[in-house]
Formats: sequence, C-alpha cells, structure tokens
Amino acid sequence: MAGARSIVVVGGGVGGLAAAIRLRVRGHDVTVHERHDVPGGKLSVLKRDGFSFDVGPSLVTLPHVYDELFRVAGTSLADEVDLVRLDPQFRYRWPSGRTLDVADAGCDVPGWADFVARGRTIWEVSERTFFAGPMSGPWSLTRRMRRPRDLLDIDPLRTLHEAAEAAFGDDREMAQWAGRYATYSGSSPYRAPATLACIAHVEHEYGCWYPMGGLGALRDAFVRVAERVGVRIECASEVRSVIATADAVRGVQLADGRIEHADVVVANADATHLYRDLLPDAGALRAVRRATPSTSGFVICAGVRGRTPDITHHGIWFSRSYRREYDDLDAGRLPDDPTIYACVSSVTDASQAPAGDENWFLLVNVPSGAAIDRDAATNHVLGRLADHGVDLRGRLACTETITPADLERRFRSPGGSIYGTSSDGRRAAFVRPRNRGARRGLYLVGGSSHPGGGLPLVTLGARIVDEMIDRDLR
Ligand SMILES: Cc1cc2nc3c(=O)[nH]c(=O)nc-3n(C[C@H](O)[C@H](O)[C@H](O)COP(=O)(O)OP(=O)(O)OC[C@H]3O[C@@H](n4cnc5c(N)ncnc54)[C@H](O)[C@@H]3O)c2cc1C
Repeated sequence: MAGARSIVVVGGGVGGLAAAIRLRVRGHDVTVHERHDVPGGKLSVLKRDGFSFDVGPSLVTLPHVYDELFRVAGTSLADEVDLVRLDPQFRYRWPSGRTLDVADAGCDVPGWADFVARGRTIWEVSERTFFAGPMSGPWSLTRRMRRPRDLLDIDPLRTLHEAAEAAFGDDREMAQWAGRYATYSGSSPYRAPATLACIAHVEHEYGCWYPMGGLGALRDAFVRVAERVGVRIECASEVRSVIATADAVRGVQLADGRIEHADVVVANADATHLYRDLLPDAGALRAVRRATPSTSGFVICAGVRGRTPDITHHGIWFSRSYRREYDDLDAGRLPDDPTIYACVSSVTDASQAPAGDENWFLLVNVPSGAAIDRDAATNHVLGRLADHGVDLRGRLACTETITPADLERRFRSPGGSIYGTSSDGRRAAFVRPRNRGARRGLYLVGGSSHPGGGLPLVTLGARIVDEMIDRDLR
C-alpha cells in the first residue's frame, strides 16, 4: 500500500461517499465536506404530512456494484439494506390503450428477447472496457478491448432510436419503450448511441430493486459504512476553494475560513462548479463545457388519498410521439405531451404513506436550464395523467414540486441537470470530464465525470478514482 495521506472529498454525494470508503479502507485519513446538513446529494428524501418521497433516485439497479463496495469495507449490501426485487419491474402504458408489464422474468413481445440479448453483449464488453478504468480518449477504450469485434459489439455508430426501430420494426410503441433507456443518462434516443441498449439487459439480468424504508435507507447505509471504517463526514461544511500551486493541490478552504491541508482532493461536486468557482481554470472549464449536460426534470411529489387501481411501484405513461416530445425538449421547453414516470413506493412499502394512501413521485424530462412555472407545469402534468385515465386531482393531500432551478441551486449542477453529463453523440463518452483533475492530487468523481451519472455509475466511478489515486501515490 502507498503511505497514508490526508484526503479531502468535496461533496457527500454517493460518488463522494463511495470514494471516501475505498480510500479510507486503504488507510488514508479521509474527510468529506458536505455543504448540506445531510449527506447523499441527489439521493434525498422529502417527508411531508405522513408521506415520504424519494425525490432523487427511485430505482436501484446493479445491486452487486454496492455490494462489492460494502464488502471492501467488511460488510455486505444484504447486511446493511433490506432490498426487495420488484416484479413486475415496470408497467408501461401508451395512449392507444396498450399496457405492458415487464416482469422480472421478462416479457414475450416479439423483438424483446433479441433486443435484450443484444444488450447483454454490449454490457459484457462495456463492463470490461468502458467501466473498467479511466477514459482519456477513444484509445482508453480500444486499449481495453480484446478483439476488433468488441468495438462493433458495443454498437456505437447507430443511435438508440435506430437500434430500437431495427429491433421492433412496425411496432413503434416498443421502439419508444427501447428508446426510453436514453433517459437513464438524461440523453435523447435520437442522439445517444445504441450502446445504451445494455440497460435493458441490466434490468432484466440484475433486476429492479427497492430498499425497504425508501432510498434513504441506501443513503444511510453509505453513511454508516463510511463512518464505521473511519471516514470523517462534516455536514453543513461548504468548501469555498481548492488551494493549489501551479501544479499540485494543497488542500481546501472552507466557507467558515478554515484551511484544511490535504495531499489529495477528490471533487464530488459538479465539474463546472469545480473549475468555475472552487479552482478557477479557464482551460479546464472549456474542456468541461465540451460535454453536453444531461436533461433536467420537473418533479411533483403528490400525497394522494385512497388507492388507485391497477398501478405498480414503477409506471410509465408514454407520450403519443417521442419525436414531438424531443422536439419540444430540443426547443428548450416542457413538452406539450410529456412521457410521465411515476414511482409509488407505497405499493411495496406501507411505511411510505399514511394507511390507505399513496406517495406519488412524478417525473417528466425537461431541458437543463428550462424556466418552469411550477403551477402551470403541475396542472399540465396532472392533466395529462388524467387524460391517460389516472386523475389524482381530486385526491391530493399535499404537493411539492422541484424545478431545474431548484436542482441547480441545491446541487450546483448546471441547469439542474439530473445526471451530470449526457450520452448524446458519438463523442460523449470521450468528452466527459476526466477523473484526473487539472492539478496533481486532484480527482473527480460523480455524475459529471467519467463514467457518468446514475447511482451505480458514480459508485463504479469511485472505484476507478480509488485505483488511480493508489497507482499515483505509489
Ligand atoms: C430527480 C432525480 C431522479 C433520479 N433518478 C435516478 C434513478 O432512479 N436511479 C439512479 O441510479 N439515479 C437516478 N438519479 C441520478 C442520481 O441521483 C445521481 O446520478 C447521483 O446521485 C449523483 O451522485 P454524485 O456522486 O454525482 O453526487 P451528487 O448527488 O451530485 O452530490 C454532490 C454533493 O456535493 C455537494 N457539494 C457541491 N458543492 C460543494 C461544495 N462547494 N462544498 C461542499 N459540498 C458541495 C452537494 O451538496 C452534493 O451533496 C436521479 C437524480 C435526480 C435528481
């Protein structure tokens, strides 16, 4: 092992906590500074009038990624969190009246099995290439490939929409279903590479999970495990700047004026915030801005009286036309006919709502930076849901909304982007900010840097950064 060093992590999001756990287990002295009162970042919980809402992530995939992290710390995911495998995983509905339940065991729609099998191949190659190490250009990826065929297998040249159309032919509704996987990284099916088809395989193979007690239970497990191995987590502790010489970091200055010396600084804050505010660096900021921000979201948390027939834990109500929906998003506005995602975790977990009631978390995609009128958007989304046959409006016990401006303010994510950087375009994987920062001893982990956003990806990013730091310190 390299000699023990002092390491500061800026931000207590999931990526920051995961990196802190790994680095502490290696014997380093690790402190996390989180500006909010509670760690977890976008993984956060809202409680109101007896209702509980997971206001960030609501879907857990790839549980073995967290298990591997927790095992490094001498425990396991099963020991820390009571995870339930959801079946069905999702209920999808289209304006035509069609309903599709994708069960844990899959579904029998023509084309589905082939699409998922294709996703398996993509995942197997991506796991040992894209997710296995840092990315500093196409050669980082090709170097980790075993054979030329790997490059073709990840299907990087077609868009996800093109792959979806090829897989489902005239069944445009299923093509829409497949295209939805672009939204898992805040991207567009018309621009993101077909590589994202691997997510269909990931859900099918590894399941869609829910931690009993809500996503906060997963957050609490990260915090508990971090503290158990000896990570110091300072909340309500904002980092004002990263202190550095021309070539190496020296520590951080906190908002209260304190200076904390460090050999290594791991920035879990968004890369734009890092290079614009904490360690101003015009060149690094220019490089960061080559990456496209992911979409943002408009969220309605609705406490709903009574029970709604025919709902599942996760539900999707598709728009009439994805093309028109994405035209609206590209034009910078809330779509006239948005696809609506709903998570009603009280279906699985009675602790999330008063007896007999439901906690509806509704999310629609909106462009990053879009100015959203809360009341108008709430009426619009609840109205569209009513058009689909689910009218919650007469049963509302409480509502809270979250706009892109709220997300930007809370998490310092530019434009309120949900996932950090998107996967739009063939170059997206290569222009995403690198894990190695612009000074010696500076590293980036989290949704804005490689390998991108989403809970499992930022957790994998922490492993990449930990290994990189370990190599650099030797
Ligand atoms: C509405 C919504 C729905 C989502 N749905 C899903 C889902 O279903 N499944 C999924 O896997 N993912 C989902 N995601 C994405 C997922 O939440 C994120 O990708 C992930 O949580 C980001 O982790 P991160 O490590 O990038 O840190 P972040 O969560 O971005 O946290 C960064 C932390 O740094 C802190 N910070 C910033 N600047 C400073 C500073 N100067 N000093 C101190 N602290 C600072 C912030 O306060 C924050 O706590 C969703 C996100 C949102 C918002």
